[in-house]
Amino acid sequence: DDRISRITSAIRVIPDFPKPGILFQDITTLLLDPVAFKDTIDLFVERYKDKEISVVAGVEARGFIFGPPIALAIGAKFVPMRKPNKLPGAVISEEYSLEYGTDKMEMHVGAVQEGERALVIDDLIATGGTLRAAISLLERVKANVVECACVIELPELKGRERLGGKPLFVLVS
Ligand code: 5GP
Repeated sequence: DDRISRITSAIRVIPDFPKPGILFQDITTLLLDPVAFKDTIDLFVERYKDKEISVVAGVEARGFIFGPPIALAIGAKFVPMRKPNKLPGAVISEEYSLEYGTDKMEMHVGAVQEGERALVIDDLIATGGTLRAAISLLERVKANVVECACVIELPELKGRERLGGKPLFVLVS
């Protein structure tokens, strides 16, 4: 697919960021290419437009870039999954482990109703811990998580095995 090669070429790889030894996949250069950015959104919209999804949950921060245009195109609501102490209303929160230590993800109470069909969006899956936390939050309010979707997967980290059997769709591996 021409679109996948354009997207792949538009992602910049930066060595030793944020720490020595890490090869950071930088999607800000994808956003600088309006054709590649549109191709990215279109590929997700084509996949999800007829799946009766009513919730697109985007993970802070880069899920906030890709999630909203997909939500608008498929006629779904957008729900931000945020870092702790950012959301002003009542929240439920989920702790998850990072390479060193733990972090928390929060979602507004009442944003998602029982039985809603949800898609979780982030830019990249590494160990899968971040997407796992988003799935857990949605399942705690009895939503049906249909799939997770990312622009990039780092397959050697086997993150998809941590998603509790939920399917994962990625554009670039
Ligand atoms: P995981 O929880 O799967 O180990 O890590 C995924 C999270 O870390 C995502 O929210 C993603 O934005 C961020 N992340 C980790 N490595 C990279 C990277 O190389 N590039 C980008 N853009 N994000 C990364």
